[in-house]
Amino acid sequence: MKVCYGCNKPVPQCVCSQEKRITWEKKARAEKEETLQCIQKELQELKAQKDKMSEAEYKEELRNLEDNREEWLKEPENYEDFSFEIDDDILDTMLTLWDKGYNTRFCCAGHPDFPRYIYIVFEYGYYFDFTNSGFDDNWKYASGCRLCYYPSKKAIHQMEKVGIDPYEHLCEQRELLNRWVHQLPSARKLKKGEKVKGIWMRHRRTKKELEAAKAAADTAEQ
Ligand SMILES: [Zn+2]
Repeated sequence: MKVCYGCNKPVPQCVCSQEKRITWEKKARAEKEETLQCIQKELQELKAQKDKMSEAEYKEELRNLEDNREEWLKEPENYEDFSFEIDDDILDTMLTLWDKGYNTRFCCAGHPDFPRYIYIVFEYGYYFDFTNSGFDDNWKYASGCRLCYYPSKKAIHQMEKVGIDPYEHLCEQRELLNRWVHQLPSARKLKKGEKVKGIWMRHRRTKKELEAAKAAADTAEQ
């Protein structure tokens, strides 16, 4: 499903104002037009310089400019195309997160083929309580902004050994994620040094913590 950049709603349900749309389209068209004119000018200049260059050099520069023009011709100029694609399987989860004020960068709903993962990368580190999420050990909230279900090869092997289909398992985890997202409170950013509840979270260890861990390991060795 295509989601509008302006309002984070599916494109058919976009709530952006007519004024916003018109302004955006005007700007996009003007920028496109201006850039294409620049490229056209550069092409003319290049052709005028042809005799002063080697054949290979000329061809390369010509190809670069033509590729660039091709790219710019594809630039969207209708507001409907000011959008991004979200996997249908995770759309409801993402719409709910945005409604609650959680800003995100990327997400993946997980696919039947490898690699089998689900992830959401948040714009900021948000506070979460995972205590009643039901997520299994394959979930991590890494660096305080990347929530992912990423079973290791060993974990997948273990599932297969006991007759669990890893993709079905992934789908169940995705449903858990959706249910958990629906009960979340409004977004709140993590405070400095604050940890989330109920899930493993990697955080950058302070120098003091590193020294303490090293001392503990040394003591254990003796
Ligand atoms: Zn919109």
